[in-house]
Amino acid sequence: MARLCLILFGSPGSGKGTQAKLLKESLGIAHISTGDMLRERVASGDEVGRSVASLMQAGELVPDETVNRLVEEKIDRPECANGFILDGYPRTVQQAELLAELLVMRPIRTIVVHLVVDYNVIVARMAGRRQCPVCGSVYGINSSAPNTVGVCDKDGAKLAVREDDREEVVRERLRAYEQQTSPVLAFFKKSGIPCWDVPAAGIPPQVIAKGIEALIRKERGEAA
Ligand code: AMP
Repeated sequence: MARLCLILFGSPGSGKGTQAKLLKESLGIAHISTGDMLRERVASGDEVGRSVASLMQAGELVPDETVNRLVEEKIDRPECANGFILDGYPRTVQQAELLAELLVMRPIRTIVVHLVVDYNVIVARMAGRRQCPVCGSVYGINSSAPNTVGVCDKDGAKLAVREDDREEVVRERLRAYEQQTSPVLAFFKKSGIPCWDVPAAGIPPQVIAKGIEALIRKERGEAA
Protein backbone atom coordinates (compact mmCIF):
# COMPACT_ATOMS: atom_id res chain seq x y z
CA MET A 1 0.00 0.00 0.00
CA ALA A 2 1.25 3.52 -0.83
CA ARG A 3 2.63 5.58 2.02
CA LEU A 4 0.20 8.09 3.48
CA CYS A 5 0.81 11.83 3.52
CA LEU A 6 -1.84 13.39 5.73
CA ILE A 7 -1.78 17.17 5.46
CA LEU A 8 -3.39 18.66 8.56
CA PHE A 9 -4.63 22.03 7.60
CA GLY A 10 -6.15 24.72 9.78
CA SER A 11 -5.44 28.08 11.36
CA PRO A 12 -3.07 28.42 14.33
CA GLY A 13 -4.86 27.03 17.39
CA SER A 14 -7.28 24.84 15.41
CA GLY A 15 -5.88 21.72 17.12
CA LYS A 16 -3.52 20.43 14.42
CA GLY A 17 -0.83 19.51 16.94
CA THR A 18 -3.28 17.62 19.17
CA GLN A 19 -4.72 15.72 16.21
CA ALA A 20 -1.25 14.98 14.85
CA LYS A 21 -0.21 13.41 18.18
CA LEU A 22 -3.35 11.24 18.36
CA LEU A 23 -3.21 10.17 14.70
CA LYS A 24 0.52 9.51 14.79
CA GLU A 25 -0.14 6.83 17.42
CA SER A 26 -3.25 5.30 15.86
CA LEU A 27 -1.93 5.30 12.27
CA GLY A 28 1.69 4.44 13.17
CA ILE A 29 3.16 7.22 11.03
CA ALA A 30 5.53 10.13 11.67
CA HIS A 31 4.56 13.64 12.77
CA ILE A 32 6.30 16.47 10.94
CA SER A 33 5.62 19.87 12.52
CA THR A 34 7.53 22.70 10.85
CA GLY A 35 6.73 24.95 13.84
CA ASP A 36 8.35 22.42 16.24
CA MET A 37 11.33 21.94 13.94
CA LEU A 38 11.85 25.71 13.71
CA ARG A 39 11.48 26.17 17.49
CA GLU A 40 14.13 23.46 17.99
CA ARG A 41 16.47 25.33 15.65
CA VAL A 42 15.82 28.63 17.49
CA ALA A 43 16.51 26.91 20.84
CA SER A 44 19.73 25.39 19.50
CA GLY A 45 20.85 28.82 18.29
CA ASP A 46 22.15 27.45 14.97
CA GLU A 47 22.30 29.50 11.76
CA VAL A 48 18.74 28.63 10.66
CA GLY A 49 17.43 29.34 14.17
CA ARG A 50 19.14 32.74 14.34
CA SER A 51 17.78 33.70 10.92
CA VAL A 52 14.12 32.93 11.78
CA ALA A 53 13.84 33.87 15.48
CA SER A 54 12.58 37.44 15.07
CA LEU A 55 10.08 36.52 12.31
CA MET A 56 8.64 33.78 14.50
CA GLN A 57 8.41 36.05 17.50
CA ALA A 58 6.40 38.52 15.41
CA GLY A 59 4.05 35.75 14.23
CA GLU A 60 5.19 36.11 10.62
CA LEU A 61 5.95 33.27 8.25
CA VAL A 62 9.60 32.33 7.73
CA PRO A 63 10.93 32.12 4.14
CA ASP A 64 9.59 29.29 1.98
CA GLU A 65 13.11 28.01 1.13
CA THR A 66 13.88 27.49 4.83
CA VAL A 67 10.82 25.35 5.58
CA ASN A 68 10.92 23.58 2.22
CA ARG A 69 14.47 22.42 2.95
CA LEU A 70 13.49 21.16 6.44
CA VAL A 71 10.56 19.13 5.04
CA GLU A 72 12.47 17.80 2.04
CA GLU A 73 15.24 16.51 4.34
CA LYS A 74 12.71 14.85 6.62
CA ILE A 75 10.26 12.90 4.42
CA ASP A 76 12.76 10.28 3.21
CA ARG A 77 14.04 9.48 6.70
CA PRO A 78 13.34 5.93 8.01
CA GLU A 79 10.79 7.20 10.56
CA CYS A 80 8.61 8.36 7.64
CA ALA A 81 8.70 4.96 5.88
CA ASN A 82 5.02 4.20 6.68
CA GLY A 83 3.89 7.72 5.99
CA PHE A 84 3.77 11.06 7.72
CA ILE A 85 1.50 13.81 8.99
CA LEU A 86 2.33 17.36 7.92
CA ASP A 87 1.31 19.79 10.64
CA GLY A 88 1.65 23.49 9.77
CA TYR A 89 3.05 22.83 6.29
CA PRO A 90 2.46 23.85 3.52
CA ARG A 91 1.34 27.36 4.41
CA THR A 92 1.92 29.15 1.09
CA VAL A 93 1.24 28.21 -2.52
CA GLN A 94 4.99 28.11 -3.18
CA GLN A 95 5.41 25.54 -0.40
CA ALA A 96 2.44 23.55 -1.74
CA GLU A 97 3.94 23.52 -5.22
CA LEU A 98 7.25 22.17 -3.93
CA LEU A 99 5.43 19.56 -1.85
CA ALA A 100 3.33 18.48 -4.85
CA GLU A 101 6.59 17.97 -6.80
CA LEU A 102 8.12 15.92 -3.98
CA LEU A 103 5.01 13.77 -3.63
CA VAL A 104 4.54 13.09 -7.32
CA MET A 105 8.02 11.53 -7.44
CA ARG A 106 7.14 9.06 -4.68
CA PRO A 107 4.40 6.41 -4.24
CA ILE A 108 2.47 8.41 -1.68
CA ARG A 109 -1.28 8.79 -1.15
CA THR A 110 -2.06 12.36 -0.10
CA ILE A 111 -5.11 13.50 1.85
CA VAL A 112 -5.81 17.01 3.11
CA VAL A 113 -7.85 17.45 6.29
CA HIS A 114 -8.94 21.01 7.07
CA LEU A 115 -9.83 21.55 10.74
CA VAL A 116 -12.46 24.28 10.81
CA VAL A 117 -12.73 26.46 13.94
CA ASP A 118 -14.19 29.97 14.41
CA TYR A 119 -11.44 32.61 14.92
CA ASN A 120 -12.96 33.99 18.16
CA VAL A 121 -12.81 30.50 19.65
CA ILE A 122 -9.17 30.30 18.58
CA VAL A 123 -8.13 33.58 20.21
CA ALA A 124 -9.75 32.48 23.50
CA ARG A 125 -8.18 29.01 23.24
CA MET A 126 -4.67 30.27 22.55
CA ALA A 127 -4.80 32.94 25.25
CA GLY A 128 -5.33 30.07 27.72
CA ARG A 129 -2.57 27.88 26.31
CA ARG A 130 0.56 27.32 28.43
CA GLN A 131 3.85 25.62 27.60
CA CYS A 132 6.57 24.01 29.72
CA PRO A 133 9.83 25.91 29.11
CA VAL A 134 11.79 22.74 29.99
CA CYS A 135 10.20 19.87 28.02
CA GLY A 136 7.98 21.80 25.57
CA SER A 137 4.67 20.12 26.59
CA VAL A 138 1.65 22.25 25.72
CA TYR A 139 -1.44 22.53 27.97
CA GLY A 140 -4.86 23.99 27.28
CA ILE A 141 -7.65 25.14 29.59
CA ASN A 142 -10.15 22.28 29.25
CA SER A 143 -9.40 18.70 28.24
CA SER A 144 -5.62 19.13 28.13
CA ALA A 145 -5.18 21.17 31.36
CA PRO A 146 -2.29 20.20 33.67
CA ASN A 147 -3.10 18.31 36.90
CA THR A 148 -1.97 21.36 38.92
CA VAL A 149 -2.68 24.82 37.50
CA GLY A 150 0.48 26.41 36.07
CA VAL A 151 2.74 23.38 36.66
CA CYS A 152 4.04 20.84 34.11
CA ASP A 153 2.81 17.26 34.79
CA LYS A 154 6.05 15.78 33.46
CA ASP A 155 8.78 17.74 35.23
CA GLY A 156 7.08 20.15 37.68
CA ALA A 157 8.39 23.27 35.87
CA LYS A 158 6.37 26.51 35.98
CA LEU A 159 4.32 26.84 32.77
CA ALA A 160 4.61 29.98 30.63
CA VAL A 161 2.67 31.71 27.85
CA ARG A 162 4.41 30.96 24.55
CA GLU A 163 5.70 34.28 23.17
CA ASP A 164 3.72 33.82 19.94
CA ASP A 165 0.46 32.94 21.78
CA ARG A 166 0.04 36.51 23.06
CA GLU A 167 -3.24 37.95 21.74
CA GLU A 168 -1.77 40.54 19.36
CA VAL A 169 0.59 37.92 17.94
CA VAL A 170 -2.26 35.40 17.59
CA ARG A 171 -4.24 37.99 15.61
CA GLU A 172 -1.19 38.58 13.37
CA ARG A 173 -0.80 34.81 12.86
CA LEU A 174 -4.51 34.53 11.92
CA ARG A 175 -4.08 37.42 9.49
CA ALA A 176 -1.06 35.70 7.90
CA TYR A 177 -3.04 32.45 7.75
CA GLU A 178 -6.00 34.08 6.05
CA GLN A 179 -3.89 35.92 3.52
CA GLN A 180 -1.35 33.28 2.59
CA THR A 181 -2.80 29.92 3.48
CA SER A 182 -6.34 29.91 2.13
CA PRO A 183 -5.05 29.89 -1.49
CA VAL A 184 -3.16 26.70 -0.59
CA LEU A 185 -6.44 24.85 -0.08
CA ALA A 186 -7.60 26.13 -3.46
CA PHE A 187 -4.34 24.81 -4.97
CA PHE A 188 -4.91 21.32 -3.53
CA LYS A 189 -8.53 21.24 -4.67
CA LYS A 190 -7.45 22.29 -8.18
CA SER A 191 -4.75 19.57 -8.19
CA GLY A 192 -7.38 16.91 -7.50
CA ILE A 193 -6.02 16.00 -4.04
CA PRO A 194 -8.89 14.95 -1.73
CA CYS A 195 -9.64 17.75 0.74
CA TRP A 196 -11.99 17.28 3.68
CA ASP A 197 -13.43 20.00 5.94
CA VAL A 198 -13.70 18.68 9.50
CA PRO A 199 -15.56 20.78 12.13
CA ALA A 200 -13.22 20.99 15.12
CA ALA A 201 -14.78 23.35 17.70
CA GLY A 202 -16.39 21.98 20.86
CA ILE A 203 -15.80 18.34 19.90
CA PRO A 204 -13.50 16.08 22.00
CA PRO A 205 -10.15 15.60 20.20
CA GLN A 206 -10.48 11.79 20.33
CA VAL A 207 -13.81 11.98 18.50
CA ILE A 208 -12.33 14.24 15.82
CA ALA A 209 -9.39 11.82 15.40
CA LYS A 210 -11.73 8.84 14.95
CA GLY A 211 -13.61 10.79 12.26
CA ILE A 212 -10.33 11.53 10.44
CA GLU A 213 -9.30 7.85 10.64
CA ALA A 214 -12.62 6.91 9.04
CA LEU A 215 -12.04 9.42 6.22
CA ILE A 216 -8.59 7.96 5.58
CA ARG A 217 -10.00 4.41 5.46
CA LYS A 218 -12.63 5.60 3.01
CA GLU A 219 -10.03 7.31 0.81
CA ARG A 220 -7.93 4.15 0.82
CA GLY A 221 -10.96 2.11 -0.18
CA GLU A 222 -10.93 0.13 3.08
CA ALA A 223 -14.06 -1.00 4.90
CA ALA A 224 -15.22 1.40 7.65
P1 AMP B 1 3.15 26.77 14.36
O1 AMP B 1 3.62 26.17 15.65
O2 AMP B 1 2.91 25.75 13.29
O3 AMP B 1 1.98 27.69 14.52
O4 AMP B 1 4.36 27.67 13.81
C1 AMP B 1 4.94 28.69 14.60
C2 AMP B 1 5.66 29.69 13.70
O5 AMP B 1 6.68 29.00 12.94
C3 AMP B 1 4.79 30.36 12.66
O6 AMP B 1 4.12 31.49 13.19
C4 AMP B 1 5.84 30.75 11.62
O7 AMP B 1 6.62 31.87 12.04
C5 AMP B 1 6.78 29.55 11.62
N1 AMP B 1 6.32 28.49 10.67
C6 AMP B 1 5.92 27.22 10.96
N2 AMP B 1 5.60 26.53 9.85
C7 AMP B 1 5.81 27.39 8.82
C8 AMP B 1 5.64 27.28 7.40
N3 AMP B 1 5.18 26.15 6.83
N4 AMP B 1 5.97 28.36 6.65
C9 AMP B 1 6.44 29.51 7.20
N5 AMP B 1 6.59 29.68 8.52
C10 AMP B 1 6.28 28.64 9.33
